Amino acid sequence: MDYHSIIARFIVVCSIQGTFATLPIRSRIRSRQKFDIFQHIVVRITFYTQYMVITAMNRHRIEEQVRKLQIEIFRSVDSLHPKYGGNPLELLEPRFLARVLDFHYTEQPGLSEQPFPYRGRRMATAGLIDPQSRRIVVEPNFSSEICRFTGAHECGHGALHPLARMHRDLPLDGSPLNHVRSPMEREADFFAAAFLMPRKLVIEEFSKRFGTRKLAFSNTVAQLICPERVDKLLHADGKSLEREKALASCRITNGNHFPSLSQAFRVSETAMAIRIKELSLVEWP
Ligand SMILES: [Zn+2]
Repeated sequence: MDYHSIIARFIVVCSIQGTFATLPIRSRIRSRQKFDIFQHIVVRITFYTQYMVITAMNRHRIEEQVRKLQIEIFRSVDSLHPKYGGNPLELLEPRFLARVLDFHYTEQPGLSEQPFPYRGRRMATAGLIDPQSRRIVVEPNFSSEICRFTGAHECGHGALHPLARMHRDLPLDGSPLNHVRSPMEREADFFAAAFLMPRKLVIEEFSKRFGTRKLAFSNTVAQLICPERVDKLLHADGKSLEREKALASCRITNGNHFPSLSQAFRVSETAMAIRIKELSLVEWP
């Protein structure tokens, strides 16, 4: 997150607020109402500006940070994963990431039975991070895609955000939620995606399966990828995940069988489809 812009916003709001203390009481009340509206507008504008800009600006920085942590995992492979068989996909484990971040990572069955308030509702806890005791805890009774994504998301908070208090998260698998989330949550999601689906490895595995670094969709390609949905794939909207989802779940082309990309990286199909889009592996006209 861009803390400088948050501090700047804080200073602006505080300095405007400070001027009210010097006004007479009646005009102070009228001014207070105007100020509340003004402050509301300022906060909304700055929130949405940060929401749209910060994550875009920080993507590169987050990927770089993830890459350095992955190098650290690789260097410590003997102690982290003594049975390492040489396939880098084996090292994409949130528990290894937590170790190099100096967090204690545990799976605790029953964690989901400790609900927490979220947008006016009580939600099941799927993961939490406690910066004081340097603990990350994940509920293992969700699907492995949710456990891995939520665990990597908590590690994202540990690496990117100096949280003062314990933070809880609902089950996450990389699929978009149906409401706007804070820049902090989006950053932790992007961190998790970059860790579980590293740019270089995804491009390599994509190229192995589809024979190219960037796939253009023709009638023949659509027939090979998903013969049941050729029309949908050919006429898909560029903003949709239609083609990316078909590629994320594809397990056979030209008679060759292979684990789908989402299976190989042990993530949800939607998380992999979003990563395919982020890496521009599909050519859109
Ligand atoms: Zn979170």
